[in-house]
Amino acid sequence: MKYHVLEKEQLDCFIKSLAKKMKVAAPVSKGNGNYAFQEVKTAEEIATEYIPTILPPKKYFMPVKEKMLDFDLNGKEPKETAELDACEMAIFGVHTCDLAGIQCLNIVFNERPRDYNYLIRKENLFIIGLECNKYCDSFASCALVNSHLPNGGYDLFFTDIGNKYLINVNTQKGEDFVESIGLPKASSQEMSALEKVREEKKKVFNHEVDVEPKKIPEMFEKVYNSKLWEKVGEKCVSCGNCTNVCPTCYCFDMDDFINLDLKTGSRIRSWDSCQFETFATVAGGENFREERSMRQRHRVYRKFKFPVDKFNRFFCTGCGRCSRTCMAGINLKEILKEVAEESKF
Ligand code: SF4
Ligand code: SF4
Repeated sequence: MKYHVLEKEQLDCFIKSLAKKMKVAAPVSKGNGNYAFQEVKTAEEIATEYIPTILPPKKYFMPVKEKMLDFDLNGKEPKETAELDACEMAIFGVHTCDLAGIQCLNIVFNERPRDYNYLIRKENLFIIGLECNKYCDSFASCALVNSHLPNGGYDLFFTDIGNKYLINVNTQKGEDFVESIGLPKASSQEMSALEKVREEKKKVFNHEVDVEPKKIPEMFEKVYNSKLWEKVGEKCVSCGNCTNVCPTCYCFDMDDFINLDLKTGSRIRSWDSCQFETFATVAGGENFREERSMRQRHRVYRKFKFPVDKFNRFFCTGCGRCSRTCMAGINLKEILKEVAEESKF
């Protein structure tokens, strides 16, 4: 493992050097305790202490709406043309929960048939993580799913060790950049400071859900027909906010928009949500998740049970965004506590 250090007062030089090479996005305060990733030019604009942004960085990997191709049915053979907007860009300040979210999306979009739009964009992104030294708020549960610690998925990773950042270099791209700006290597004293930060984290990262993480999929096997889902479904208004803000939700819809000539048009992909009534409607009008209770159950099983069966990992990173944003006050941690309680019997 390679580690370098950056004096905090040098962060502005770091960001400016990066901005000379590519666009830089970072968390910025939007007022009222809200934060969003957006383009920055200086360190002054960045909120280095922030709770999860309104939307996770997935918006840079899979835009809310994107044109997949233009088509032309004139002539003997139909023609398709596709142009991908994927410029080189750095995302600075990505928390470990969002790094875990990106890792989940990487798995999904690498499955065959591969999603080249996602993969090409990802290749163009330079990801710089930033460690949280304390829990962001009561909605977070990252320690439950072990995403409070860095587990890869970044080029560089920053940890605040007082008046400096300790930087873990994880890729060649990361190393090239760090060397290009001449950052010094970390001393043994600075490495001890990292150990201290991690020791302190053990004391403060309490996710408040009293379950053994490895027992979670088993718990969900027992509660599929629980009344809990009806209770949650009665509150839910099917707005889809919880899935939009989730760093691991990736469902999309595809629409063809045809021009007035009825021969040319564009295929557009946009985010969709399993919480919408139409989501599970199939040909003939059959809807296999008609009730909101079924859709809520599906959402939660898609985080804690189905991906464990398929990919051997949780697709919840504990960021807390779904609970933080829900206008109906549906709280994922409360659901987990109820699942834990009910599954005991
Ligand atoms: S944000 Fe809340 S109300 Fe909206 S779909 Fe999700 S759980 Fe339902
Ligand atoms: S389910 Fe909720 S807490 Fe878990 S990753 Fe998605 S938004 Fe974050």
